[in-house]
Amino acid sequence: MSMDWEVVIGLEVHAQLNTATKIFCGCPTAFGAEPNSHTCPVCLAMPGALPVLNGAAVDKAIALSLAIGAELNRHSVFARKNYFYPDLPKGYQISQYELPVVGKGQLTVQMADGSEKVIGVTRAHLEEDAGKSLHEAFVGQTGIDLNRAGTPLLEIVSEPDMRSSAEAVAYLKKLHALVRYLEICDGNMQEGSFRCDANVSLRRPGDPFGTRAEIKNLNSFRFLEKAIEYEILRQKDILESGGSIVQETRLYDANRDETRSMRSKEEANDYRYFPDPDLLPLVLDEARIEKVRQSLPELPDAKRERFMQAYQLSAYDAGVLTAGRDLADYYESVADGVEGKLAANWVMGDLLGALNKAGVEIQDCPVSAEKLRLLVQRIEDKTISGKIAKEIFEEIFHQGGEIDAIIDSRGLRQITDASAIAAMIDEIIAANPQQVAGFRAGKDKLLGFFVGQVMKASQGKANPDQVNTLLLERLQKPE
Ligand SMILES: [Zn+2]
Repeated sequence: MSMDWEVVIGLEVHAQLNTATKIFCGCPTAFGAEPNSHTCPVCLAMPGALPVLNGAAVDKAIALSLAIGAELNRHSVFARKNYFYPDLPKGYQISQYELPVVGKGQLTVQMADGSEKVIGVTRAHLEEDAGKSLHEAFVGQTGIDLNRAGTPLLEIVSEPDMRSSAEAVAYLKKLHALVRYLEICDGNMQEGSFRCDANVSLRRPGDPFGTRAEIKNLNSFRFLEKAIEYEILRQKDILESGGSIVQETRLYDANRDETRSMRSKEEANDYRYFPDPDLLPLVLDEARIEKVRQSLPELPDAKRERFMQAYQLSAYDAGVLTAGRDLADYYESVADGVEGKLAANWVMGDLLGALNKAGVEIQDCPVSAEKLRLLVQRIEDKTISGKIAKEIFEEIFHQGGEIDAIIDSRGLRQITDASAIAAMIDEIIAANPQQVAGFRAGKDKLLGFFVGQVMKASQGKANPDQVNTLLLERLQKPE
């Protein structure tokens, strides 16, 4: 029988900063160019070429620091991290070690059950990315593409504060939303511009931390969750059969849904870190920090609070709608002038559902926010029923078209004329004597049957509230 294990997770997130040029040279950072076309003597590591720090990368690090309320070190140092790898032409990576630009901060994450958890951020430091090894196009050889070498990265290291895969995913999602709000990283996980390593270990509650395994290069929220779940089971099996965990680096194989050993984990001193003599310490002055502070947009937590107040939304709804800046902007345009909760239901229900099904992102949504707002207005002013609105939405989402024109040309206007509805009710009551008797004998559920019949007879156009009221009046009236 197994006693309880507590899982301990820390994440190291690499966010590629979306500067136009690399961190220590003027080469472009654009993705997808001809291999080795975005290179120069600095990022090719030619002898004598000297790095010059890109100030835009520094400002983006400052923005993140301010957004998570972190200590911002006025004095930080670039260090050489020495290791050999074919895609690292200098034989070292320029990073920050003892003195990173961003110190301790924190992120508050919202869990699905409505609870909140504060996750500590240990530090965030600036560094350069390595190149890429290409295996597929070369038989028996490896190609090296150095276009990515020197792309600026911000490595954001969390405290080992997460206790489940769900918490780790919530933290990663929050950080992802944040870098996108701040517009410091495009967040494209498939292209690797936002990726993470997960440190996972198990312990008995109250014990010191166990030995951890580091799972490298997870580039989707689902892979993070599955890799952690697999790793928990693997470590539990080893520990419960009396074995011990080896500190190592592991890879997650999504096709087989398992992690496997890549190499034994290096210790920091294996890298022989030392301050880079080619770069001056990075010194930040207050004016620069203040300038970045002034440029910060409204951040997700503040937006969530405001949505709850301004649109009368639940914490959950406001959380979903502010998870991404594009979605939040879209929702605000829809909700401008209509009831906030109704707008939220449409955006979170029909719209997100349709986008999901079509595999389309909100920024490419075929229905503009103005159009969806008009649709909601047509429900509010009782021109159409909610049911008809759903049909119109399906149509404009897939085929386009103008809402009012569709309503008019197809005769979808809602029937609110009480005498017309009453006439339909009379017919249906006359045609269904058995159900009428049943309802009057106490089978309340039959009301649904009658509502359905009237809606069918009106081709979905009768106003549902009026149908309900008139039906009840008519059915409860003794013959
Ligand atoms: Zn270059």
